[in-house]
Formats: sequence, C-alpha cells, structure tokens
Amino acid sequence: MINAIGYATKSAHASLKPYEFTREEPAINEVQIAISHCGICHSDVHQARNEWKNTVYPCMPGHEIIGTVERIGSNVMKFKVGDVVGVGCMVDSCHKCSACKEGLEQYCEKGFLATYNGNMRNPTKENNTLGGYSNSIVVRDDFVLTIPQNIDPSDAGPILCAGVTTYSPLKHWKVGKGHKVGIVGLGGLGHMAVKIANAMGAEVTVITTSAEKREDALAMGAKHTILSSDDAEMKRNESSLDFILSTIPQPHDVNPYTTLLKRDGVITIVGCIAPLTKPIDLSKMITDRRTLSTSLIGGIAETQEVLDFCSKHKIVPNTKIITVDRINDAFDEIDRGEIDFRYVIDMASIKDKHEEKTLAGKLGLTSH
Ligand SMILES: [Zn+2]
Ligand SMILES: [Zn+2]
Repeated sequence: MINAIGYATKSAHASLKPYEFTREEPAINEVQIAISHCGICHSDVHQARNEWKNTVYPCMPGHEIIGTVERIGSNVMKFKVGDVVGVGCMVDSCHKCSACKEGLEQYCEKGFLATYNGNMRNPTKENNTLGGYSNSIVVRDDFVLTIPQNIDPSDAGPILCAGVTTYSPLKHWKVGKGHKVGIVGLGGLGHMAVKIANAMGAEVTVITTSAEKREDALAMGAKHTILSSDDAEMKRNESSLDFILSTIPQPHDVNPYTTLLKRDGVITIVGCIAPLTKPIDLSKMITDRRTLSTSLIGGIAETQEVLDFCSKHKIVPNTKIITVDRINDAFDEIDRGEIDFRYVIDMASIKDKHEEKTLAGKLGLTSH
C-alpha cells in the first residue's frame, strides 16, 4: 500500500480538508505518479457539493493531473521513471464495447471509471475513486498521457479536461477556416475553446454576460464579443454564426443563443449536465434547420491529440497557481463565475501544509 495525502470532503456542505488514505501498489500494467499540479475544474465544485445528486463520499476531486512517473509495472513500455505525464477525466473503461473500440471511452456502455467519484454511469461506495487533489496516484498505462516538452507542467493540467472537452466537439463538427464560431461563457472551458477554435482557423465571437470579460476575450484571440444581456446586441447578431459552443456550467435557457445560428448551424452544449430552465423553442430551430447537440469530454487518444495540438499551436491555458489551503476559496470564486482562467493547485504545498499540521499536533497546538 502507498500512503497518500489529499484534500477531500465528507459531505455536500463541508469544506475540503486534508485527508490521509492509501493507494494500491502499481500492478504490472500500471504507473505510479507523483502529482505536481492539479487544475480545479467547475465539475469538481459540482461534484464535491453533490449538485448532480450522485456524489459518493469521501469525495476527492481532481481530473487535470500532472506529475512525474515514480514507478512502473513490469509490463509498462510506454513510460519510464521521470517522465512528465498527465491523467485526465478517466482512469479505466471496459475496453470491449463499441465505444471503447472506437476510442470513445467517454461513452463506454458500461460507464467509464472516472478519475474521481467512481463509475460515470453508476457511482457507488465500492467503485469510488479518489482524484488528483493528492500527492500520488496509480493509473493503468493506457489512460496516462504524455505531456509535450514545450508545455510547462504547471500549465498543462487544464488541457486534460477543459482542453479536450472543447476540442472534441469543435473537431466533431469540423470547425475550421472560414467558420464563424460563437463561444458562450468565458470561464475555464470557454477560454480554452476560444484559443482552440482560433487555432483551427475559425473567426471567434465570445458571448458573455460580463462586460468586464470583453477585453480578456479579445486578448485570447476572439475577433468579436456579444453581451448576452443586451437584447439589441443579441438581435443585431441573429443568424450570424455557423457553430456555437455553450460552456455555461449551470441550467440555463438555451433559446436566446440558438437564434444566433445561421441556417443549418449547430449549437453544442458541453458545460451543463442538467435539465435546461426553459424547453427548446422548436419554432426557432426548425425554421432554419438548426441542430442542438451535446458532447462529453473526449477519448484518451483525443486527449493526447489536443495536448499535441496545444503544443504545436503554442496554446497555453491561463492559469493561477495556488496552494492547497486555498481550494475552498477557489471553489467559491468558480461557483460565482468570476474567473476567466483556471486555478491550478501546486501539489508540493500539500506536504508543507501536512507537515505544519502534524507538527502543530505534536506540539499540542490546535490548527484551524
Ligand atoms: Zn473537468
Ligand atoms: Zn466500454
């Protein structure tokens, strides 16, 4: 057994706290990774707070994991000790169903094993997994990603979820040169979507509720912005876009965005896993043969592809590095939709914080 430390929560309303636990030793096809960084995804907040009503506790989030290979099983050929590697949203799947055979492990018919909270389709106490808000993880080699050398380990994490979640639908719907693409929301996902769609050759418009984010959007590569709360501005842009990616992370009304699409335009929802607040107004869809679609993260091969794409196009997520004791504050800021970058936890800080706590305990001091 490997002794590990992480940050976990025991209930929907509790904050995340230091948590000691054990991981299994690596099997012959597994890789043990010393985690150096982990991005904070909006899903981490949803899951820790049981907003999807399927959280298994203790819940230790984290699926934008970067680290160094510490130990490998005897059958592992692809990695060696010292390699900088990543682990994204999945750590296993059935390998047999049609989705898995097509490299679409995220749609595994049996449900993929998520990096935290267990089986995607049926999480239980028995299959619960503990994620990357920890100093160590053991993962089978074919779910471990190679981090390209020109991407700094402190920047790479957000590509593993925010990157692939936006890259996958952009690629699926063949976004490229000459396309006018709208990105709704400029948070962790949205800001990656702007950079990736821009690198694919599209003309990008950011649709946001916050006027303050307009300049950031342009700095990230967008050509235009639309303030969604401004009815006149929305009206002026009707039927102007070929493709829209909605990254809004809560239940919302999608109808105002569908009218921005041209005839045969497509809107894909990636941020929200819950019923919309208003029914789809088909009168706005059918009259212009518009399509509403959805997309969930990306497969393992596709995750490697987006890492290599970001490496080639020099795309770097906008990140802010924090120590572990700031996780709960970061959760609140993400929940309020205030940030247009990704928080990344410096996992080295977990050891310092843990030692401080242990020392305080030994000295009989109370820590808070
Ligand atoms: Zn995520
Ligand atoms: Zn499968």
